[in-house]
Order: sequence, then structure tokens, then C-alpha cells
Amino acid sequence: MTPVSVFSGKQVAVFGLGGSGLACCAALQAGGAQVIAFDDQAGGRDAAAKTGFAVRDLHDIDWKTFTALVLAPGVPLTHPEPHWTVKLAQGAGVEVIGDIELFCRERRAHAPRSPFAAITGTNGKSTTTALLAHVVASSGRDAQVGGNLGTPILALEPPVKNRTHVIECSSYQIDLSPTLDPTVGILLNLTPDHLDRHGTMEHYAEVKERLVARSDTAGIAVEGEYTPAIAERLEQRGHNVIRISSQEFVSPGIFLDGTTIVRATETDAEPIADLDGIGSLRGRHNAQNAAAVIAAALTLGLTPKQIRAGLATFPGLAHRLEELGRKGKVLFVNDSKATNADSTEKALSSFKDGIYWIVGGKPKEGGITPLKSFFPRIAHAYLIGESSDAFAATLEGQVPYTRCGTLDVATGKAAADAEKSEQNQPVVLLSPACASFDQFRNFEIRGERFRELVRAIAGFQGIGKTA
Ligand code: ADP
Repeated sequence: MTPVSVFSGKQVAVFGLGGSGLACCAALQAGGAQVIAFDDQAGGRDAAAKTGFAVRDLHDIDWKTFTALVLAPGVPLTHPEPHWTVKLAQGAGVEVIGDIELFCRERRAHAPRSPFAAITGTNGKSTTTALLAHVVASSGRDAQVGGNLGTPILALEPPVKNRTHVIECSSYQIDLSPTLDPTVGILLNLTPDHLDRHGTMEHYAEVKERLVARSDTAGIAVEGEYTPAIAERLEQRGHNVIRISSQEFVSPGIFLDGTTIVRATETDAEPIADLDGIGSLRGRHNAQNAAAVIAAALTLGLTPKQIRAGLATFPGLAHRLEELGRKGKVLFVNDSKATNADSTEKALSSFKDGIYWIVGGKPKEGGITPLKSFFPRIAHAYLIGESSDAFAATLEGQVPYTRCGTLDVATGKAAADAEKSEQNQPVVLLSPACASFDQFRNFEIRGERFRELVRAIAGFQGIGKTA
């Protein structure tokens, strides 16, 4: 745990008592603050009370007694409207912050030079965070990984000189971190998302920009509509910016050339790592993630050799183009996290042909129509779930398909067909392009079921990661 001492002797309100809220209570209390915890849900209040935190209804309290309101990131700060605690805090002139802000203040007070990488973007945050933490750890350094991914930031070990924190930040967390100042900030990409919580795309982009705005070094993937302007703006202010691209040559910067990631300086270009053959980093999207990791790792002082070794041994994250294993020539890949066509496009574009595609569930608007240009790569589609009629209509006459109903049936048929096929490297790919809710509680459970089925079919043990 990272005790938060900057509010020692002060009274602090903590609202939202899930995992990160409870970690805030513990960290603040350990640092000598008086914590009053509350949640709209009885479950959160009970969990806090059980752990021994003071739980009181924040409606009935003199807010002038508080120094800060620490808000869980899921609680609306501005849109659709500020939560009632935010209104009460603002009315009393009490600042509203989150757990990452607490970490930043603690770090500045006690270990301002401790290495701290913060990562954001609309897509690829978890992969990039896990990959950077893996690269840092495999070089022999102490790496603490968490934030929006896995462990709440304040449940990690405290910042010290020789310990690197690698932290995934959602836009909600950044919005609650006015002085976020990482050693290296990474901004991967920006596409419309969470606009219900941020109002407009402009506000969402402005929030994301804050992660890099105060970083010592900003690694920005200058692809798409919004991020190039952010890089430009920061540079004009004299900020240290590393441009990253998986699409074009950038100099100075880090870019993808074929399968090699290259660092270009004003005068020179040096290949840093070849991604060819790294099964956990398939696809152009992962090249962007890997290039961002290289930018961060170089900034943190790792050598190209250490970086190459880390990239090559990355186990990947569960449910994201996760290689489960092979049976004979057939590769099995679990991409259950792909709950929309955009994500499935990343998966389909990662394999040239011979794709035995398990697809379907609770469909999103537009279905699989945006994926038409990838249909020639698909040997056969296996339809599951609620979307079957709609997807059959889209595939009709273009891709052979079988209505399978369930994932169990689809996996069996796809495995058998792939095994019999003439393809050299057939792949059985679960990339549903749909939410799971019609048949599974969430995408993780869907992916775990697929893992079990594949394990039974392929007869191998010990496959799969749960990182
Ligand atoms: P996040 O944590 O931002 O949700 P993940 O690393 O969990 O991102 O990846 C989720 C999905 O987003 C992946 O399955 C893939 O389809 C897509 N994705 C991953 N990295 C990128 C990227 N750099 N650009 C665009 N899409 C990506």
C-alpha cells in the first residue's frame, strides 16, 4: 500500500466504495487522515464498515470540515451532471480529486524522481500498460503495475527511487487528477468514446491531453484526428515530445517500418525491435502499442537489448488476440474482448487468410457490415447468439457460414473444419464483434468458456493467461 500522508491530520471524504475507493480509505487512514466514507449503494457502505472505516451519510455533514472529496472514477464529475457529493463539495469550496492525484502528491512529497509512466488512449491502454510493466520487470527492475488495470494505484507499493510505477489511466481518472505529472506520459489514440460522461469530443480530448501536458516527456502516437495537434501544441510550449507512428515515418520519433520499430533522431535511424514472430503482438494496433512502450522504456533508461528481450517474452493479455495454443497446424485465438466491429477489424487484419471465425452475440449498431473488406480472409464463419439472422444476411453470398447457436457448438465445428482444411496455418478465431450479454455475463466469462472448450478439443494443458 502507498500511505497518503499529504492529508495527515485533515478530514477527507471518500465517495464510491469499490476497490479503488476502499484502497483510498486505507491509504489516507494509514497516512494519518481522518476518513469519512460513503456510497449510494449499501454494498459499498457495508464493505467499508466491515473494514473498519467510518461510514457516514455525506448529506448530513458540514462540508467545511473537509479538506478534499476523493471520488471514485465511475462517479460523474461533470456529465450528465455532477454527482450530489460534487455539488456539495463545490458549494463548500472543497476540492474534488481521485486516487491518482493522491499518488502524484505523495510522490512529489517523498520521491519526486521515482520513475512513473502513465498511459492513456481510447484503445490499447491495458495492453500497453501490461507490456511496459513486463519490459521493465524483465530488465530486472521493480515494476508496480495498476491503476485502471488490475490493482488500484494506492494498493501498490509506494514510490521510491528504484521502483517504476506503470499506471493505466482512464479519462475519468485523469479528470480527477489536476496535477498528474508522470516521468513519461503516453497518449495512444483518441476516437469518440464515453461522450455521455465528457459531453463533447473536444472535452474528452482535452481531458486526455492533461495526461501528457505535465509529463517530463510525452510519447504521443500522432495518428488520427486529434493527437497530432496535441503533440504540436505541447512542442510549441517547449515540451519534450516523442512522436510515435505505426503508419508513417516520423523524425525524430519512433515508427514502424515493415515489422521493425525504428527510432529516428534528427540525423540517424536505429532499428530497436522486430515484432515479427511475437504472437502476443500481432497486428498494426499492437505495433502502435509496442512503439509507445519503446518510447517509454527508452525514456526510462532501458537499453534496446533489454527492450527486445521484454517484447519477445510478453505473454499478452487474456481475451485480446490471446494465443491459446495450437493443435497440429491449427492456431486457436481468443479475442473475446472484441465487443464491436472496430475491435474485430483489428483481429481480422492480423491474419492474412484461413480464418475460421466465431462471431456473434448481442449486436452493436452496424453489425459486421464495416468488416466487409476482410471477408476474403475468412474461410468459414460460425454464427452464435442473437445476431445470427442479421449476420447471416450480411455474409450471404460472400462467406460460407454455419448457424451454430452456441459457442460450444461453434468451437467444435470450427476446430474440426480447420483441422481438415488445406490451409497451411488455419486459425480458429473467437472475435465476436458483439457484446456477450445474450449468452454470457461478460466478455471474460465468454473467453474463459472458449478457453475450456479449446483445451478439451486440443488436449493441451496449462494454456492461457489470466494477466
Ligand atoms: P483498453 O484498455 O484501452 O480498453 P486493451 O489493451 O484492453 O485496451 O485493448 C482492447 C481492444 O482494443 C483490443 O482487443 C483491440 O481490439 C483494440 N486495440 C488495442 N490496442 C489498440 C490500439 N493501439 N489502437 C486501436 N485499437 C487497439
